[in-house]
Amino acid sequence: MPKAAAARKPAPSKSVADTRRIMAKLEGQHPNADTELHFSTPYELLVATILSAQCTDERVNQVTPALFKRYPDAASLAKATPAELEPQIQSTGFFRAKSRSLLGMAGEVVEQHGGEIPRTMAELVELPGVGRKTANVVLGHALGVPGLPVDRHVLRVANRIGIARSDDPVVVEQQLCDAMPSAEWTRTSDTLILHGRRICKPRPLCDKCAVQDECDYYRVAMGVVTKRGRKTQARKQPARASRGRAQIRKSRARSGK
Ligand code: SF4
Repeated sequence: MPKAAAARKPAPSKSVADTRRIMAKLEGQHPNADTELHFSTPYELLVATILSAQCTDERVNQVTPALFKRYPDAASLAKATPAELEPQIQSTGFFRAKSRSLLGMAGEVVEQHGGEIPRTMAELVELPGVGRKTANVVLGHALGVPGLPVDRHVLRVANRIGIARSDDPVVVEQQLCDAMPSAEWTRTSDTLILHGRRICKPRPLCDKCAVQDECDYYRVAMGVVTKRGRKTQARKQPARASRGRAQIRKSRARSGK
């Protein structure tokens, strides 16, 4: 993103030092966070990530062993037909669109990159079916190039805590990359994804969260600050806190935890 455009965006409420401290706490809560997709080469991770759109990693991991055995590289996949490929990936959903993406991607990789998965964001996003999030997953996990994928979990959790502020994944990626060292980008994304899946779900389990005291969403729910970050008047705090606790209790009851 051009720096001038980034400068016009609202800044996150947390400083760089805050963000790094918060991420250290979350990494303590989710040690060894990593992608849950199974792969052994950049090609395999690219295929698995394309299949993971609107699908669980668990389901993708059930499908990929047979797929990788039949099509071990981009060259073999490029020779497949939709009629051959679609039944094998049907259970991951949206199989026609995913088949088009996989065959298009494999064809381009063979024609434009000699069968090797390219190593830059600019080249990866030119491949059919590959967006910025998918490219960052492959760069960070399989190619050793720093990348910070922003999915719906990263977007939700980072905004709630206040370490990012935007609905736009590209802006959130930029804000988190600005705050964290590049060597930490991929782990930052993995940690926020895991936190979003396990704790900071759409209905969050705040009483199990390692960063409760520093979270903007929680502080507003508890009546410590207003949505604009101003401290609430002392006499209003008990009522707001009571409403916040009730809201969080309701969330837990609905999620069955
Ligand atoms: S305190 Fe609640 S809303 Fe904030 S990050 Fe933790 S789980 Fe999410």
